[in-house]
Amino acid sequence: MNPMSDPAPEHASGLATAGPADPEHDRTASYALDPGYVRALTDRVVSTTGESVPTYSPFTGQPLGAIPQSSTADVETAYRRAQRAQEAWAATPLEDRSRAMLALHDLILDRQDEIIDLVCWESGKARKHAFDEPLHVALTARYYARTAHEHLDPSRKAGVVPGLTRVEVNREPKGVVGVISPWNYPFTMALCDGLPALMAGNAVVHKPDAQTMLSALLGVQLLEEAGFPRDLWQVVAGPGRELGGPMIERSDYVCFTGSTATGKVIARQCADRLIGCSLELGGKNPILVLRDAAVDRAAEGAVRAAFSNAGQLCVSMERMFVADQVYDRFVARFVERTKAMRLGSGLEWGSDMGSLISKAQLDTVTAHVEDAVGKGARVLAGGRARPDLGPYFYEPTILEGVTPDMTCFGDETFGPVIALYRFHDEAEAVARANAGEYGLNASIYSRDGKRARAIARQIRCGTVNINEAFGATFASIDSPMGGMRQSGMGRRQGAEGIHRYTESQSVATQRVVRFAPMLGMSDQAYARMMTANLRLMNKLRRK
Ligand code: NAD
Repeated sequence: MNPMSDPAPEHASGLATAGPADPEHDRTASYALDPGYVRALTDRVVSTTGESVPTYSPFTGQPLGAIPQSSTADVETAYRRAQRAQEAWAATPLEDRSRAMLALHDLILDRQDEIIDLVCWESGKARKHAFDEPLHVALTARYYARTAHEHLDPSRKAGVVPGLTRVEVNREPKGVVGVISPWNYPFTMALCDGLPALMAGNAVVHKPDAQTMLSALLGVQLLEEAGFPRDLWQVVAGPGRELGGPMIERSDYVCFTGSTATGKVIARQCADRLIGCSLELGGKNPILVLRDAAVDRAAEGAVRAAFSNAGQLCVSMERMFVADQVYDRFVARFVERTKAMRLGSGLEWGSDMGSLISKAQLDTVTAHVEDAVGKGARVLAGGRARPDLGPYFYEPTILEGVTPDMTCFGDETFGPVIALYRFHDEAEAVARANAGEYGLNASIYSRDGKRARAIARQIRCGTVNINEAFGATFASIDSPMGGMRQSGMGRRQGAEGIHRYTESQSVATQRVVRFAPMLGMSDQAYARMMTANLRLMNKLRRK
């Protein structure tokens, strides 16, 4: 390991305070960030409780700010404001909505240093992984701005009587969408699901995870600067199990990203109200290295697949199946690359992996590795915490010999730990990749694209990347992204990612004929005529 040790105070956005105030005596002060900057963000939380909860940087444990907490009454206020804003917004032409979306795109690119700094401070991730966040939100904003008409304009459909039944399908906004987001990609997960909701004419009430409120609030500030009406996106703060219920009670649709366990609670609450929800949940994602894989490329991809954001990524890989023919060569390269990774605490470019976000994450990762090693797994790289770098650092870890009795065999670790398995028969590898209850993301390395695509069809995951870890599907916003089985319901991105926020309405205008006997025809004659019509239509191959 070649650890970077300096939590550099000098960085591009200038967020840091020149001299530390003392948050123990001044609740608005912060050692790490300028208190005025933090206050401008936290002022956006709908809160009348007078209570706040401090938030800390995983890099050093330094306080970052105090987050005002919302009550159930505050949630109600947020929905009332959002509803009012939504009515005007739904009447705003698509051109104006797209213009704001494209302004957001540019603003995010211009202010990326500030965004990345804040994401790093809050999440502890390496700068290169934080960069993925503005990148993904900018891609999403541009995509939905450019495809607004394609997805939202009324569309013509085939009428039942050709030429005489004219059918149009309208897309109406649902109303106010509740968004509940996790901490792992705090800027992306805050905005990427809400942007299509806004594009479709909805308002959003958002509850970000408590650990990463500031990154989400910066996103909301940028929305306003880009020209979206201020009240259109409301933010509430507090424990999910307290605010979740009141939010779902008032939402017209819910978009949730987080654990499978919480997703099921949300789904039950939405079912009670008969409102829709999309659930982006956990995974235990497999990567397959086939016998004809380019070994170096696969080893490079495996590092990103397993250790991006210290493995705290829903689409990252925790199980790797490698063909016999390349196993030894591949493992040697993968272990070598992993051992060469630079761990770093700080805002500078140049580190390959940052910290875990919290003690809870560190405890889970430690427990999974200790359990596996205790039951006979071998550590090929990593395998220990690094308190010398920061309170929650853990080395990127490769395990061999993981068996079904070990926790990390089937449970999501959500950390930098991957288990290697050798395979001989591809059909058997596919069956092992499909084992378990999750189905979020998979990756296949092979020089034969056609064969890899055929194997992809057999993998029961919502996204499959060939010769790439996860970026190829995740950044291709025109295609749907989401989980099969226990990894979720519904899809973000693409047409599905925006249509989930609309009610489709079919309007049919009937001319000349009607759907009843005409001109004194008996019911029986009408039935005979309709039967003959159906036969004719089938012969003419009409749909
Ligand atoms: P979590 O379910 O504990 O929390 C996620 C969000 O839900 C937080 O904002 C939390 O406050 C809120 N919440 C918690 N309990 C709630 C309740 N009863 N009602 C309403 N809201 C509630 O998830 P986590 O452990 O913090 O996040 C990590 C998990 O998220 C992992 O399993 C990961 O795979 C998953 N994840 C999935 C995706 C995806 O796109 N599929 C993306 C990121 C993370």
